[in-house]
Amino acid sequence: MINSKCKICRRAGTKIFLKGDRCLSPKCPMVRRPYPPGQKGKGRTRGLSEYGKELKEKQKLKNLYNLRENQFRNYVKEVLKKRGGAEDISDLLIKKLESRLDNIVFRLGFALSRLQARQAINHGKFLVNGKKVKAPSYQVKKGDKITPHPSFFKKENSPGILKKYKPPSWLEFDIKKIEGKVIGEPSLEETGLSIELSSIFEYYSR
Ligand code: SF4
Repeated sequence: MINSKCKICRRAGTKIFLKGDRCLSPKCPMVRRPYPPGQKGKGRTRGLSEYGKELKEKQKLKNLYNLRENQFRNYVKEVLKKRGGAEDISDLLIKKLESRLDNIVFRLGFALSRLQARQAINHGKFLVNGKKVKAPSYQVKKGDKITPHPSFFKKENSPGILKKYKPPSWLEFDIKKIEGKVIGEPSLEETGLSIELSSIFEYYSR
């Protein structure tokens, strides 16, 4: 039976990484069945209305970062207010999402999914610049240092999990100190996302 979390990926048409190790293995259903679940799944990817396409892209990005509708909408609305400004709103949205502490803990390899990262942060397992931060939505800035609380490695987590992920270029990881640092700015290109952000902006501009 396909796990309900995997169905979210198959509906979105992209890997959202909700099942830890399984997501990196050939057992990931998105490897063999990268189309929506159900007998007619393959056919359902075609023939969507404009609204349906926008909704699909919105769901994809929202689920990727594991956000509730109101949280995700707030990010998009905030960015839409800056439309016409100096910076591209697609870049602004990606920066907001990628700079969340839960995403950074995941990107540094401390957790196998953003969901796992969020749970660890909620339990006070991460420090930013030496201070405990329990808000997964905390916006991490350039120059900030992220370290796990010593209790983070006591249970199921081993430093070995850190070897599975290569951080993006805007993050630096010091394996000896077990410390991550933000050294640049996240970019849309580096996320490798195949999502039409313009559809998402259209969806929330209606
Ligand atoms: Fe399931 Fe992970 Fe693959 Fe998504 S990426 S389909 S959650 S195994």
